[in-house]
Amino acid sequence: MTDHPNIVVLTGAGISAESGIATFRGPGGLWEGHRVEDVCTPEALARDPGLVHRFYDLRRAALAAVEPNPAHCALARLDAEWPGELLIVTQNVDDLHERAGATRMLHMHGELQSALCAACGAARPWAGELPPGTRCPDCGAPAMRPDIVFFGEMPYQMERIERALAMCDLFVSIGTSGAVYPAAGFVQTARHWGAATLEINLEPSQGSFLFEESRMGRASELVPVWVEAVLASQRRTSPRT
Ligand code: NAD
Repeated sequence: MTDHPNIVVLTGAGISAESGIATFRGPGGLWEGHRVEDVCTPEALARDPGLVHRFYDLRRAALAAVEPNPAHCALARLDAEWPGELLIVTQNVDDLHERAGATRMLHMHGELQSALCAACGAARPWAGELPPGTRCPDCGAPAMRPDIVFFGEMPYQMERIERALAMCDLFVSIGTSGAVYPAAGFVQTARHWGAATLEINLEPSQGSFLFEESRMGRASELVPVWVEAVLASQRRTSPRT
């Protein structure tokens, strides 16, 4: 599975785990000590905006203490060196792909370092704290919220993602549990359109059986090996200039 010109990569919390960012469903189904329903739904934001804003303030602040790991760096290398189409779709709200140097990527579930106006829909890069009631720099409404796609909200750039999945020859899923839709369904879409499929994860994900190939282990070890093989196959098949 190495000679594929058009690649879509999906990443999840598992790729950032070795950088020290907790995955979504840690021990007890908690994320950093909170139930997902208490910090990751529109209802939670309406009920207790202080708690939700504080939760994401802490996650945003924690980014300063983490670094991209070899898996992020390998994908950035693929981004820089792959001559074919590539789209890295991340479910992660951290900025570790960008900090490693990736550019052909998008955040389908939003970004910690962005704030969204619930009144006018404008998104702004954001550093530091974001207290409830912060005024929107664009429309002035006291309605800035974390730019995070909560459960029940529509992920970003779905049309672009669906187009890329329909066009790709290889779909690779890295460090995601396959529990959160629509991302969990990308493997089926890619297969429907004829793509080869590969999963790289610490343990079989919920949708593991849907992949043609599964490699189990740490992303920091397996992703660089896979990227090296893909780039080597391209070097072998490229005509000399
Ligand atoms: P998840 O926590 O449900 O699953 C993570 C998966 O990664 C698990 O299957 C686990 O076995 C695997 N994993 C753990 N360590 C790994 C490693 N070192 N190498 C390879 N695989 C490893 O995460 P998900 O599927 O991304 O869940 C989706 C939601 O989690 C997303 O909506 C995302 O926004 C949110 N989230 C993001 C971050 C982040 O930005 N870093 C952190 C936590 C949660």
